[in-house]
This record gives sequence, C-alpha cells and structure tokens, in this order.
Amino acid sequence: MILIGQQERVLIVGPTEVHHCLRCQTETEFAPQLRYKMTRIDLLFGFVYQRRYELACTGCEHGWVLDTESMDQQLGGVPIPWRHRFGLPVMLVVVAGVAVAGWMWRMGHGGI
Ligand SMILES: [Zn+2]
Repeated sequence: MILIGQQERVLIVGPTEVHHCLRCQTETEFAPQLRYKMTRIDLLFGFVYQRRYELACTGCEHGWVLDTESMDQQLGGVPIPWRHRFGLPVMLVVVAGVAVAGWMWRMGHGGI
C-alpha cells in the first residue's frame, strides 16, 4: 500500500542568536530554521514543493523570513534529506525501470 499525504517540517539550520522579541517583550534566542512543505509518498519518500528560511523566536515562533538564495549559499546547499527532495523523481525512475525490465523479460521469452 502506498500512503500519500502532506507534511510540514522544520529543520534547525544553525546556532541560535539572541534578539529582542517583540512578542515576548524580552531578549530571547532565535533559531535559524528551514520550514518546508512536502507531499509524502509512503513513509520514506516525499516531494518538497515549498520551502523558506526563518529566524524564529524559540519561545513564541515569532520571527522573520530570510532570503532563500543567500541562506542556501551560506549553508553550502539545501539541508533537506535527498529522499524528501527527490523522492518523487526517484520513484518514477524505479517504476519505469521495473516496467522496462518486465517488458524486456517478456520480449526475451517470446510472449506478450
Ligand atoms: Zn518570542
């Protein structure tokens, strides 16, 4: 059975910084994080369709949106597991490979 669903995940991508939080009315720790939404296929694979970096207060989650391109460069890549980013194309390749293998097996045995 294949399970398909949607999921939102948050990854902390760096050390926290201390800032004044307007909502907490105090100095708190802010964590740079990557929030992404993905379509989940099974429990292993997924396909990320939206992502953004945020600097968010660890107390109330209030924060700023960071520039995606400059954060990617700063981190030296996109810190999302490859099976979440490329799960859908990988699955399609696997399915196509199985279909081609089955077709070749049938051709090799002279049947349809
Ligand atoms: Zn706060």
